[in-house]
Amino acid sequence: MNNQIVGVIGLGMMGVPMANNLLKSNFSVKGFDLNPSAKEKITPSPQFEWLNSTQDIAKSCNVIILMLPDSNIVDKLLWGDDDNGIVQSFQDNTLVIDMSSSKPTNSKLNAEKLSSLGFGFIDAPVSGGVKRAIDGSLAIMMGGDEKYVAQAMPIFNALGKTIVHVGNAGSGHAVKALNNYVSAAGLLAVSEALVAAEKFGVNPHLVNKVFNASSGKNNTTEVKVENFMLSETFNSGFAIALMRKDIQTAKDFISDMQSPGSFADLCLEQWLAAEQNLDKGADHTAMFAYIKNQH
Ligand code: NAD
Repeated sequence: MNNQIVGVIGLGMMGVPMANNLLKSNFSVKGFDLNPSAKEKITPSPQFEWLNSTQDIAKSCNVIILMLPDSNIVDKLLWGDDDNGIVQSFQDNTLVIDMSSSKPTNSKLNAEKLSSLGFGFIDAPVSGGVKRAIDGSLAIMMGGDEKYVAQAMPIFNALGKTIVHVGNAGSGHAVKALNNYVSAAGLLAVSEALVAAEKFGVNPHLVNKVFNASSGKNNTTEVKVENFMLSETFNSGFAIALMRKDIQTAKDFISDMQSPGSFADLCLEQWLAAEQNLDKGADHTAMFAYIKNQH
């Protein structure tokens, strides 16, 4: 499928390393981001072309990857304010792959609307953060028709290691939001535990060492506590605003499913308070600093 011309719209923390890995796997890639300095971060390659607008990407690519902040931005880009979005400029049989962490209900609707116009859609959000985006070992959860999944598989193989087709369009985004809710709940619990243990006089590095050898182990204890939280670097590359958005998406999804969600409500409340309290643009691991600074 390397005859596909892959457009990447959204070259931020995740989009840049993902585009670089597509180039490494010999795809022809065209990119655009509202921030023109993103172009400097792409590995120089004859296979890469920076285009000057999203409409240009739509006109010249038959597969379009979106790696954008949220569903509002994705929907506005596709459809515009008055049916003047990039869909108007699509080539025949264009496939849209929304790898952003978007809302499942919006993605289901996007798949239906695109299908009625003869275009394809897969939601394929990712997990693993910037580090795994760089080394091409992301987890990718796909929602959509089997035929589009088969078409996109060579692309996903260039970006990730664990690639799972979880269901119909929107399912990938549902699983992603639920995953981040579980991850956020873990980070919040670990932060509260470490702060209390330290106040009692226990070295938090030792607490985390015990967690990692015990049933409290999770992604936060394994990856984030030493690297970003106790080191106080707070630079994992995943903004707290994006984490809060994901928990909101999970909470809305749980509520749409009429499932119990009281813990998700509490979790969202805490992350919202932390986001409002921390500096604009803060990393999500700064939740630890927020908890530590509370009296
Ligand atoms: P980011 O803010 O670093 O990048 C988003 C990019 O989109 C920015 O460069 C911005 O200029 C660009 N953009 C915004 N609107 C645009 C438009 N209309 N047209 C073109 N470009 C536009 O965010 P990120 O951390 O790369 O995250 C992207 C998505 O991936 C989000 O949905 C996020 O939740 C998800 N995600 C992030 C991580 C992570 O660790 N950073 C991990 C998994 C998933």
